[in-house]
Amino acid sequence: MLEARIPTGPIEQQWDTCRFEMKLVNPANRRKHSVIIVGAGLAGAAAAATLGQQGYHVHCFSYHDTPRRAHSIAAQGGINAAKNYRNDGDSILRLFKDTVKGGDFRAREANVYRLAQVSLNIIDQCVAQGVPFAREYGGLLDNRSFGGVQVERTFYARGQTGQQLLLGAYQALQEQLGAGRVTMHTRSELLDVVIVNGRARGIVTRNLATGRIERHVADVVVLATGGYSNVFYLSTNAKASNCTAIWRAHRRGALFGNPCFTQIHPTCIPLSSEHQSKLTLMSESLRNDGRVWVPKKKGETRAAKDIPENERDYYLESRYPSFGNLVPRDVASRNAKEVCDEGRGVGPRGQGVYLDFADAIQRLGLEVVREKYGNLFDIYQRITGEDAYTVPMRIYPAPHYTMGGLWVDYRLMTTIPGLFAGGEANFSDHGANRLGASALMQGLADGYFILPCTVPDYIASTKLDPVDVSHPAFAAAEAEVRRRIQSLISIKGKRTPDSFHKELGKIMWDECGMARSEAGLKKALARIPGLRDEFWHNLNIVGGDEELNQVLEKANRISDFLEIAELMCLDALQRTESCGGHFRLESQTADGEAKRDDANFSYTAAWEWKGTGQTPTLHKEPLTFERVPLSQRSYK
Ligand SMILES: Cc1cc2nc3c(=O)[nH]c(=O)nc-3n(C[C@H](O)[C@H](O)[C@H](O)COP(=O)(O)OP(=O)(O)OC[C@H]3O[C@@H](n4cnc5c(N)ncnc54)[C@H](O)[C@@H]3O)c2cc1C
Repeated sequence: MLEARIPTGPIEQQWDTCRFEMKLVNPANRRKHSVIIVGAGLAGAAAAATLGQQGYHVHCFSYHDTPRRAHSIAAQGGINAAKNYRNDGDSILRLFKDTVKGGDFRAREANVYRLAQVSLNIIDQCVAQGVPFAREYGGLLDNRSFGGVQVERTFYARGQTGQQLLLGAYQALQEQLGAGRVTMHTRSELLDVVIVNGRARGIVTRNLATGRIERHVADVVVLATGGYSNVFYLSTNAKASNCTAIWRAHRRGALFGNPCFTQIHPTCIPLSSEHQSKLTLMSESLRNDGRVWVPKKKGETRAAKDIPENERDYYLESRYPSFGNLVPRDVASRNAKEVCDEGRGVGPRGQGVYLDFADAIQRLGLEVVREKYGNLFDIYQRITGEDAYTVPMRIYPAPHYTMGGLWVDYRLMTTIPGLFAGGEANFSDHGANRLGASALMQGLADGYFILPCTVPDYIASTKLDPVDVSHPAFAAAEAEVRRRIQSLISIKGKRTPDSFHKELGKIMWDECGMARSEAGLKKALARIPGLRDEFWHNLNIVGGDEELNQVLEKANRISDFLEIAELMCLDALQRTESCGGHFRLESQTADGEAKRDDANFSYTAAWEWKGTGQTPTLHKEPLTFERVPLSQRSYK
């Protein structure tokens, strides 16, 4: 069932071989074909602009009122590329190796190699678009380093890299909108994927402003709808980010890859109150110059400035001397939790560690630090009221990114022919842990370079029957969408959608978050179906469905979170090893590091939907490592 379609031959040539073997569509014939792209973040906007430029009729959908609001805009720190501008030993092979190793050997080698190769093109593409990457005094592009690596290969635009990259993609998209090759459908939310004769041929959407349900037909459907970290309720993701598109595709037959692989980011502003509904990231780039520490003494009450040097524990520097504060995110997050659990956490709730810039300010000067990170310090100041130039920042891990997503083959096609997935929506090239600055790279690689080759190949090599929206499959999908909305509206219970979401998030954070155990996961699996059941009997939605109704929108999305959460726990339960961001308490080394079990778990888990409350079927894609030999990760 799982045919990854990895090209044969040496890894260095696989993508070229694939491109050579793929079929092309004659320029004059491209306008006869239509492509639906759901999502206008980096992956979706890049794919829509590029396929539009090639000459296809592209329909791009987003629930936002403009592509510029996609969650990609929040990305702060930077984007990796193996340009080796620093001449510090970087290369495609090294980026490939760092990414495979950073993902704890749970990603497909061929995909990761391609990602490293294409990273070079991304920077050229974005510079040509005018993306204002940071430059050195002499005008050359600047680089900095990110966790889990020892070279400086991260391109950045202060703390606004995602915003600048998205403006570049948006500009390219606008050009195609102007040329009439792309049609943008804003405030349109995908609620179902339509399958005709086994192939994805369209979608059903709800217009969020009017409530109108609409059918859309095309030759190919691409999902670039982002990640599902908001299953935890509190996360660094935009509040509206959700799993509905990929989950509804999963319910239609697309297998779901590694759902339990989620990333908990180490540098977020700690939770300050029970009523908070959003967490804020402080870019990992801050770990380049900030030093992480906690007091040596448990229950310390003195202010940071009153704690002398010899009473501070710079635990990352002492435990991991080669990488220090730049260990990968999973390692930094686990260590922060550990010192806080020991009672050495700082701040009002004891759930925080210091990220201290005093040394950097002394070494580089205040102005240099302000120049590099000024907007991040401003964000921190506005949220906490503290001035991080004079007192250390407080940080704590928070859900941030989902490595899991729709299973795709080398050509980014899901197990439903004609349905592709790109960016964070697919199960991605990051394995069990994403290295910093590599999601933007993957989203843009997928959008600008991979999908624009593989989608045309599918069109050229498939006999596409004429289909329109009057086909019974569209009517059936629309009826299902309407039925679900009516069910939600008619419950008339007592609880708000948010109250269910918050309860679900707490279960997931406690039992399927930074550390997982058999007992905890079983507890979660016992509670989630009950919560889902209560949701469907005691939910209260105010307002109707044929109007703007944000409560209904939320409820619809939460109904899917209540299903995906169960799959995440099941996936985590079956994987009795620790790897990357998936830390099983029962599987650790003597010094508390993640202990993989390559003999039994060197595979991608791909789950098949069998119905609500039914046990899904697990399929396994074996992973082999020929270029980066399997080894226990060590950042010491
Ligand atoms: C705070 C923060 C900082 C980050 N910083 C970095 C960084 O410095 N470097 C890095 O590499 N990565 C970073 N990341 C990760 C990175 O930003 C994301 O992984 C990436 O931007 C995702 O892009 P995307 O195009 O896949 O999805 P998104 O940008 O999430 O776009 C999703 C699109 O899909 C649309 N959509 C979703 N569902 C539907 C639906 N059902 N119907 C219609 N439309 C739908 C949305 O409207 C949107 O247009 C960061 C993440 C966060 C949270």
